[in-house]
Amino acid sequence: MNGARTYPWHTQQWQRLSRARAAGRLPHAMLLAGPDGLGKADFARRLSDSLVCPQVDEAGDACGSCASCRQTQAGTHPDQRSVVPEEPGKMIKIDAIRDLTSKSVLSAQEGAYRVFLIHPAEAMNRAAANALLKTLEEPSSRTVLILVSSHPTRLAATIRSRCQVLKFGIPQVKDVRAWLVEQGAGVELDELLAISGGAPLRALQAREQGWLDESRRLSQELLTLKQRKTNPLAIVEEWEKRPLPLLSDSLKRCLSDLVKLANGLRDTVIYHPGIRDDLQCLGEGIDLQRLYGFNDELLRLDRDSSHNLNVQMQLETIANRWLQITRPGGQ
Ligand SMILES: [Zn+2]
Repeated sequence: MNGARTYPWHTQQWQRLSRARAAGRLPHAMLLAGPDGLGKADFARRLSDSLVCPQVDEAGDACGSCASCRQTQAGTHPDQRSVVPEEPGKMIKIDAIRDLTSKSVLSAQEGAYRVFLIHPAEAMNRAAANALLKTLEEPSSRTVLILVSSHPTRLAATIRSRCQVLKFGIPQVKDVRAWLVEQGAGVELDELLAISGGAPLRALQAREQGWLDESRRLSQELLTLKQRKTNPLAIVEEWEKRPLPLLSDSLKRCLSDLVKLANGLRDTVIYHPGIRDDLQCLGEGIDLQRLYGFNDELLRLDRDSSHNLNVQMQLETIANRWLQITRPGGQ
């Protein structure tokens, strides 16, 4: 076993690939696709480590002790190459892809592969994707390309169609419960899974970053605003002290729940089952149209915050908009 993390909800995908490898039917190009928070990148690393190891164990994992595995552990394996954006959120450019494919001198040992990993694949710009396409059209027998993407539809169809897609879906709660308990997510486990849309690694992120507290606090703030019990500027001042992404994501999740509850879907799956009654109360008397209008405001906040516009002004707009839509009987 090497250093790559393994998760119980990957078992099916792992076994499928291990069988294919044992039968000599490993695809030349794979696309690991599915929502964030499922550990696809860890799966890719595990796969990559095992592919360069010439003596995998029974489960198909890297042996962890051969010369090849020592190189992967040190991050110096010549047959293991990866491309990620220079900074998170930036594009992967053609030079990076050319570099990846041109410098690859096959040194793979008997029974092992050379691995190219691109993550996130949808970050490739058009020129980079075209350069990669050339490689995909002329696959060499012991080279495996692994693409990882949480937004596979943003990938060029020409790339997607040349890859074997390995899907990662939201696992069932019974398949992640024990693992999450092991990670220390005990009492709030169900709430953490709900707020993270069922993705276990996101659930841990939610716990670390205090998503549940943020939502509780925010729904209370929105309620006091709605009831005109507080000065909106005081609330905006509070909002400014908190990390904007945390606040903005929490607003969006609360609003999504409000919309579902306003639709009368009382038994529907929502992000915040722990404060369902509070949200029900919060949404009372606000019709759907007005909620959608508020949603537009939030999307604008998202767009503008990436341009570093005045955050305080935007938060004031949000608060005002909320006051508008919660005005009794008004628009
Ligand atoms: Zn090994």
